[in-house]
Amino acid sequence: MRQITLGRTGITTPQNAFGALPIQRISKDEAVHLLRKAYDGGMTYFDTARAYSDSEEKVGEAFKGMRDKVFIASKTMARTTEEFWEQLETSLKTLGTDYIDVYQLHCVPQCYKPGDGTGMYECLEEAKKQGKIRHIGITAHLIQVAEEIVQSGLYETLQFPFSYLASDREKKLVEDCIAADMGYICMKGLAGGLITRSEAAMAFMTQYDVLPIWGVQKEKELDEWLSYMDETPAMTDEIEAFIEKEKEELSGEFCRGCGYCKPCPMGISINDCARMSLMIRRAPTAAWTTPHWQEEMEKIDTCIECRQCAEKCPYGLDTPALLKRNLEDYRKVIAGEITV
Ligand code: SF4
Ligand code: SF4
Repeated sequence: MRQITLGRTGITTPQNAFGALPIQRISKDEAVHLLRKAYDGGMTYFDTARAYSDSEEKVGEAFKGMRDKVFIASKTMARTTEEFWEQLETSLKTLGTDYIDVYQLHCVPQCYKPGDGTGMYECLEEAKKQGKIRHIGITAHLIQVAEEIVQSGLYETLQFPFSYLASDREKKLVEDCIAADMGYICMKGLAGGLITRSEAAMAFMTQYDVLPIWGVQKEKELDEWLSYMDETPAMTDEIEAFIEKEKEELSGEFCRGCGYCKPCPMGISINDCARMSLMIRRAPTAAWTTPHWQEEMEKIDTCIECRQCAEKCPYGLDTPALLKRNLEDYRKVIAGEITV
C-alpha cells in the first residue's frame, strides 16, 4: 500500500483511511471492534465529525491509551465563533484527547477567509496556536467553493468527493489542490454506493496523491479494504476497460449524488432520489425499497418545478424530469411490474 503525505501537514499514512460516519449506525462495541481491527490491519487515519452523532465517542473509546498511534480528523458545522469553541471543546472531550490532528470546517457554504467578518478562520488559527488542533482543514460539496478554497491557499487539507466517475473539472481540482501543497482527502470514493467494485475504486485512487476515506459499517467491508494493504490493486488494462464501460453506462443523464443542487424547498432528497433507478439495480435492492425510501420517493410528487436544482447541477441535468422518471420506474419496481 502506498503512503500518502497530506500536503504541508506532513501527515503520512497508508492510502487507505477509515471514514467514521457509518459507525454511528452500529453499537459501540461493534464500532470499537471495527476501529481497532482497522488499526491492527494498518489503517492510521480516522475521519469523524461532531455531526456524526456518537461517532466521535466511539473513536475516542477505540483509541484510548494509544492516541499517539493514530491520526484523528474531525469536523465542525459551526457557523459562528461561539459555536466553534463550544463544538471544539465537545469534540475534544468526546474523543478523550487534548488535540485533533486535522480539524475541518464541515460542508462549508463559502470559503472562510481572515478578515471576512465571520471570525471563523481566526478561530481555526487561534485553536491551532493553543495546540487544540494541529492542522486546519475544510470540507465542501460545492465545486465552485472547493475551487475558491484551493485558490485561497489558506487551508492545509480539502475534503471533497472523488471517485473514478469524476469529471475533468473535479480531476483538475485534485491536481490544483496537490500543486498548492494541500492534502486532498476523498469522500464518496464509491460515489455514494453507485460503485460496487472496490478493487477498481482503489486502483483508481492509486493514480493520484490523494487519501480516500472509506465509510465502514460492516466487518466484511473493512476486510475488503484491509486486504488491499498487502496486495494493493494496480490499474490494469482490464480495470481501465471496466472503468471506461462504467463511465459509458453512467454517462449523460445520470445523477452523481453530489448534492450540489440541495436544498430543495419541498424537502426532496434529490441526490438520492434522482439516481434511484441506478441504486436499486447496482446496490442491494432491499436497502432502497424500505418504507423510508418509498416515502422519500413519493415526495417527488410535491415538486413545484422551481428548477433551482437544475440551475445548480454542474452536470447540466434536467433534475425535475430525472426525478419524475425515477419515480415512475420506482413505482413499477415496488408494484412488482419490473424485476430488478
Ligand atoms: S424543481 Fe422540484 S426538485 Fe428541484 S428544487 Fe424545485 S421543488 Fe425541489
Ligand atoms: S442532480 Fe446534479 S447536482 Fe443534484 S445530486 Fe445529482 S448530479 Fe448532483
